Parts: sequence; C-alpha cells; structure tokens
Amino acid sequence: MTVGRIAVVGASAAGLAAVEALRRGGWTGALTLIGDEPHLPYDRPPLSKQLLSGDWQADRLGLRTAGQLDTLDLDLRLGTRATALDTVTRTVTLADGQRLECAGVIVATGVRARTLPGLAGTAGIHTLRTLDDALGLQTWLSGASGAPRRLVVAGNGVLGCEAAAVARELGHEVTLVGRDPLPMGRLVGDGTGALLADAHERHGVRMLTGSLDGVKTADGHVTGVRLADGTALEADTVLLAIGSEPAVDWLRADAALDTSDGLRCDEYCAAAPGIYAAGDVARWYHPGHGRHLRIEHRMNATEQAMAAARNLLAELGATEDERRPFTPVPYFWSDQYGMKLQAYGVLAGADRAETVLLDKEQRQVAALYGRDGLATGVLAAGLPPRQIRGLRAVIATPGPWDEAHARLLAAVGGQ
Ligand SMILES: Cc1cc2nc3c(=O)[nH]c(=O)nc-3n(C[C@H](O)[C@H](O)[C@H](O)COP(=O)(O)OP(=O)(O)OC[C@H]3O[C@@H](n4cnc5c(N)ncnc54)[C@H](O)[C@@H]3O)c2cc1C
Repeated sequence: MTVGRIAVVGASAAGLAAVEALRRGGWTGALTLIGDEPHLPYDRPPLSKQLLSGDWQADRLGLRTAGQLDTLDLDLRLGTRATALDTVTRTVTLADGQRLECAGVIVATGVRARTLPGLAGTAGIHTLRTLDDALGLQTWLSGASGAPRRLVVAGNGVLGCEAAAVARELGHEVTLVGRDPLPMGRLVGDGTGALLADAHERHGVRMLTGSLDGVKTADGHVTGVRLADGTALEADTVLLAIGSEPAVDWLRADAALDTSDGLRCDEYCAAAPGIYAAGDVARWYHPGHGRHLRIEHRMNATEQAMAAARNLLAELGATEDERRPFTPVPYFWSDQYGMKLQAYGVLAGADRAETVLLDKEQRQVAALYGRDGLATGVLAAGLPPRQIRGLRAVIATPGPWDEAHARLLAAVGGQ
C-alpha cells in the first residue's frame, strides 16, 4: 500500500538519505522534499575545511546531481520554508500558505548557527553553517589584497577550531576565544584538548579564555570585540562559532511535539504517529545508552534518515518489515592542520575521560570517555586507518570502564 504523500522537510544530508531510502524501500506514492535553501543537497563538512581553504570549489560539494535526483521522481521544493506541522492531520504548511496533507512526514531540518542579537547587516560578522555562509567567509579569507588580516573566532568548539586552523594556514592573524581553556575541551577533555592547544599554538593562533560580550563597529563594519572580562580585541572579521540551535521553530505550535533541544523521538525515531525525525534535529531514545541523544555528526544524518524512512514505511504498512529501534555506534571526525581526529560512541556528557599519549611529536593520542561507570566513547588522533577501524569494537555498546580501557590499549598498542 503506497497511497498519498510523504513529505520530508529539510533538503540536506538527512533529507536526501530519507527520500532515497523511501524510494528504495518501495514507496511509489508522491514524495515531496522541502528545503529552505536554494541549493540542491550539499555536504557540510567540507565547508569548514576544503571550501574555506579554497582547495575545493562549491560545485564539488553537491551530494547528487540534478539528473540523479530526477530518478527519484521527487516533488522538489527548494527555497521553500515549512512553517507548521499538524500532527493529527499530518499536514505540513509552507511559507506561501500551501498545505500538504501527508500519509507520513520526516523532519530533517537540522540546526541553525547561533548568533548574537542586533548584528544583522553588520559587515565582517560571519557564521558558518550554510554554503552561503562559507562562501562569504572564504571570500574574505582569500582577500583580494592578499594582506593578512585579523580574524577573531568566537567559540573554540569543533567548528571554531577548524576555521581557525584554515585561516591561520592562509596567513591571517587569528585569535581563538573560548569559554573552555582548551580547544574543544568540553567535548574531548583535557588530554586531547592540550594536544590541540599545542597544535594551534605552534601554528601561531592566539588563544584566549573568555566569552564574547559584544562587538564594536564603525560605519556598519565590525572593528573588534569585547570580552566579558573587559578585554578588547581589534578585528577586521569575526566568526561566531558559538554553537547551534535545532531548527524546530516551525514545529512549536503543535503541543503534541516536545521541541526542547531538538525534536524528541522514541527509539524508532518517531515523534508522533506517522511523524519521524532524523539528523541533527532529532533527539531520540538510544536503548543502548539508555537515554535520549541528539547527534550533530554527518554519518548519523545518513544512518538515522535510513532508519526513520524504514520505520515510517513499516508503520504505514508499505512494507512487510517490523519497525526497528535505531541503535547506531555514532562516528565523528574533525581535521585540523592535517591532523585527523576520529571518535566512536558518545563523548558528550562524559563524567570521566582518560587520554593515552602515544606519540607527542606525531600528535598521536587515544582517549576513552565514560559516564556512570560505563565507557561510552573513544577518540583517536593521528592514528592510521587500520587502528581507527579497530576502535569501533572497543565501544560498540557501553560497557564496564576497565574492560573497555584494556581493549583500547590492546587496539592502539599503548600502556
Ligand atoms: C561547517 C561544518 C562542518 C562540519 N564538519 C563535520 C565533520 O567534520 N564531521 C562530522 O561528522 N560532522 C560535521 N558537521 C556536521 C554535519 O555536517 C551535520 O551533522 C549534517 O549536515 C546534518 O545533516 P542534517 O541533514 O541533519 O541537517 P542540516 O545539514 O543542517 O540540514 C537541514 C536543512 O534543513 C533546512 N531547513 C531548516 N528549517 C527548515 C524549514 N522550516 N523548512 C525547510 N527547510 C528547512 C536547512 O536550511 C538545511 O538545509 C559539520 C557541520 C558544519 C556546519
């Protein structure tokens, strides 16, 4: 039975994977893909790496060609914003007032870059979430004059660190300001944070601990920033890498949905009957971790979209399948100065972290993360691919700390 329409809202990694999985799974009914950006689905990780450095042009980021999308027979609505969802009638409302009645809906609206109020229209202030954001920052970094200029990166999480590394490698004066004393410290802990601090320092990034209090401007252009402790920094450009917010504004009117920190879903990625979510926006119950997780990782966007699509088809009776809980081993990577960080499992929310320094000069470390006595995640920097692949098994399910620790040492040859 494949009657009616399925709407997938959000036309990026998760939205694309969802429509492909729906067609592969046998959905022959109408399939609408709605995205508020004007672009065909593109990949975000290269935005803060290859696109920012100028190594890749924007046309290399497309996830599919227009021809490949044609084969999916989509009702493709780009540059179109969804403004509401009625979970009882399963109706999606679009910005132009159109109402799409659906058999099922998959929410894949991701997250938006957090920004500061009152800065709209100020030249030299950037965020880094979309292709247009990245092109704007890249234009500045590749500056026609070629002269190095002063960049302040506010936020020393993954994105801020990656952008700082690229800008420094392009010769700009870079100040990286973060609330945590160590880059990415909140996520990776002190051991790996210290390794990253060393890398940024050696490359000449100035690192400051503090939080942004305000921005100084002259003639509509940024001239510097103020930190909460009164420190003033001059800047030609400021990148706000101060986190993200789930794009759930359009869902808030429906009282049946819990939109606190993303769209809350059960273990099948269902938020309500016939309504599923995937990717950065979804906060779903992971039975293996025994809690709700929301994961902003590229691989999760694809895997979760495939799971949500499969479960929606099962619920609609469009396949013979039973719904299955979504229980992935999350995977994440980051690139800075040619150094690759890769992690399996869950690092966020850890109450314990232990880092094994394998080789300081080669910047090789492995680290274990845990919570409530169980090991939940591993991270490695600078290790060869063969060893990295072995780390997945160390943490495939949360388990006793000591056992995981011994397995980690065996996998990386540490002591
Ligand atoms: C610069 C950058 C670098 C990254 N690097 C890495 C990395 O190295 N490794 C890694 O694992 N992950 C990385 N990530 C994270 C990864 O890209 C995301 O996890 C992934 O893109 C999530 O995909 P998504 O489809 O869930 O959400 P998104 O990619 O955010 O897509 C959601 C889409 O929905 C649209 N949308 C939102 N609201 C509406 C609405 N109401 N109506 C219609 N459309 C709407 C948005 O405009 C957007 O196009 C990076 C992210 C960024 C921004």
